[in-house]
Amino acid sequence: MFGAAPAFPDKLHVGRPNIGDRERLLERVNDILDRRWLTNNGHYVQEFERVIAQMVGAKHCIATCNGEIALEIAIRALELKGEVIVPAFTFVATAHALQWQEITPVFADIDPRTHLINPESVLRLITPRTTGIIGVHVWGQPCDVDALSAIAGEHGLKLLFDAAHAFGCGTSTRLAGTWGEAEVFSFHATKLVNSLEGGAIVTNNDALAKKIRLMKNFGFLGFDNVGYVGTNGKMNEFSAAMGLTSIESMHEFIEHNRGNYHSYRDGLAAVPGIALLEYDEEQHVNYQYVIAEVDGEMSGIDRDVLLDVLWAENILARRYFYPGCHRMQPYRSYFPNAGLLLPETERVSSRVLVLPTGQTMTPADVERVCGVIRTAVEHGSDITRRLERAGKRLHGDIVGR
Ligand SMILES: *Cc1c(COP(=O)(O)O)cnc(C)c1O
Repeated sequence: MFGAAPAFPDKLHVGRPNIGDRERLLERVNDILDRRWLTNNGHYVQEFERVIAQMVGAKHCIATCNGEIALEIAIRALELKGEVIVPAFTFVATAHALQWQEITPVFADIDPRTHLINPESVLRLITPRTTGIIGVHVWGQPCDVDALSAIAGEHGLKLLFDAAHAFGCGTSTRLAGTWGEAEVFSFHATKLVNSLEGGAIVTNNDALAKKIRLMKNFGFLGFDNVGYVGTNGKMNEFSAAMGLTSIESMHEFIEHNRGNYHSYRDGLAAVPGIALLEYDEEQHVNYQYVIAEVDGEMSGIDRDVLLDVLWAENILARRYFYPGCHRMQPYRSYFPNAGLLLPETERVSSRVLVLPTGQTMTPADVERVCGVIRTAVEHGSDITRRLERAGKRLHGDIVGR
């Protein structure tokens, strides 16, 4: 359910895709059909890889069919095993990519201000079985890369980044794409730049890049020569065409989202108990996510009640990463008490509300969302009472949670 934006065209919802120049896309699609080269490292996939590598300043980019498979391949190519430390506050794909190959994800806590993996928490979780760390650039903000690199270096661990949120993001001087051994992007339909489904692994390591290329194509070294156990992680040409077209409009998408973010900030500034996650605007930020934190005591309305009110108003806000990977299966069964070590993850995931943004959200739409939130907070206790009396959970009812 997570990440898969339901198609309710008449509603405002989180994760509605950005679409670039239609004519340009259709030209490319026609060209693909003319070439009759639909997949297997075609013309457009090669171009997509070149554009990304150049943009983020990485030596190699390997495009894949999606971000999850990209993570799985990167993890396997790095020969991670045993235990790998990941934040609990991430999309479950980060943990699954490990568990899928029987590597144990060990969940670290986050910095409550940024929602990023806390290096001190990582330090406490290292055991003789630990082989790596996966940092996640949550909401597109770069992790504390220096601290994580120092820990990885000191303890002989491999460092990988899930940069699914961070395409075009980074510090003021460096974009995500060249930190650690490798970084993984997602170009899923809901991300800032999309290739329908898609992902990419970027790295400066020649040997690693070569191995990843083999692994994403069944391990084929040549027509009849298989050198490695591989999978099928290839990106197809239509996806690459969509991705290239999407990248061409990326700066428009970011500018639009930046406008929305500032409108939200202004519209919600005076609302008690509703705080927007503040981006460091000195950094490269893609503003793909507008993150509100609801302090139920201050606002007089719980995050989940506010979510119900928004859904009733056809505003499909979302609770991302709720209730944290450690509370999802199979991890909940493996580590039933993990929450005790993850106080910030527990608190943040109970308060985060992702508000709709992106190309389809107009300034008037943003103002409407802010208006509903202002009204809901104004009448918080009354709404809570009525909803409780009616026994209604709109959000839950609709998504079939
Ligand atoms: C979207 C996402 C993924 C998975 O990418 P897909 O392309 O959907 O497979 C992994 N990690 C994070 C943090 C994500 O947001």
